[in-house]
Amino acid sequence: MAVRQAKAALHRRLMSTFLNRQHRRYNGGKAEWWAERTFCFGRGFGEGQAILSYEIVTPFQMNQYLLGCTKTGRACLIDTGDANASLETAKRFGFSIKFLLQTHAHLENVMGLPDIRRTFLHDVPMYIHRADSPLYESLQNQHGGKTGIMRVDKLSPPENYLEDQQCITVGDVELKILHTPGHTPGHVSFYCEAHGFLIGGDLLFNGNIGRTDLHYCNKSAMNQSLRRVMNLPDETKVFPAHMMPTTIGKERRSNPFLARALENEDRCNELQLQRDRSVRGIECTV
Ligand SMILES: [Zn+2]
Repeated sequence: MAVRQAKAALHRRLMSTFLNRQHRRYNGGKAEWWAERTFCFGRGFGEGQAILSYEIVTPFQMNQYLLGCTKTGRACLIDTGDANASLETAKRFGFSIKFLLQTHAHLENVMGLPDIRRTFLHDVPMYIHRADSPLYESLQNQHGGKTGIMRVDKLSPPENYLEDQQCITVGDVELKILHTPGHTPGHVSFYCEAHGFLIGGDLLFNGNIGRTDLHYCNKSAMNQSLRRVMNLPDETKVFPAHMMPTTIGKERRSNPFLARALENEDRCNELQLQRDRSVRGIECTV
């Protein structure tokens, strides 16, 4: 056990040095800034490794993720606010972006799509959950779009739809789709079991949870979705669409909004159980 931990610590140190050197080579003194936003999962480059890197884009300060496999060079973008921002990182690792995944269809998550299609990734397919189609098709009515502050071109229809429990592979990296509605009806999270991370969109944040005050939000679905991801191991890293990454364990221990949502979810389950029992009781007496 101790040997394994020492090996892991050494690997982390080596990777950090590698990333810093790589970054200095390209970008002078911003090494720390960049290394902080790039995470490596897996054993080593020869054996294939997942690289997850994010850029903070759009006036909404959204985290746009680039996930790539070092063995195959295949990569995808998760939430496309400003695709150009991730191109340098893709180039640095020799990644070729093969598809685009959307956690949900809010303006900031999809507003980079027209640009990416027009300028460089013309034929790259985009995946989204079907339940977010109404939001996707009426982008101009969303906050920002409605006020005219954000100009968003009309989006082309998605090439594919995501489904709960579906598996998607990025080279050798496997992601499981978890349908986690509440913030929007078709909100999904991407879970990588092998490397222990969750790309959670606007479901769970560092110290907060996603908003549920818009007319299409569903608080009780949100509570159920949060309960679902809280069944993941404590050490699972969570990469949200806003703010810094966190872990399931940290949020379980310290996030007051999450605690309240889980309490409400438990209360609903208890009430449902009581209702079921009373219905069964009535059936027995008939
Ligand atoms: Zn959102």
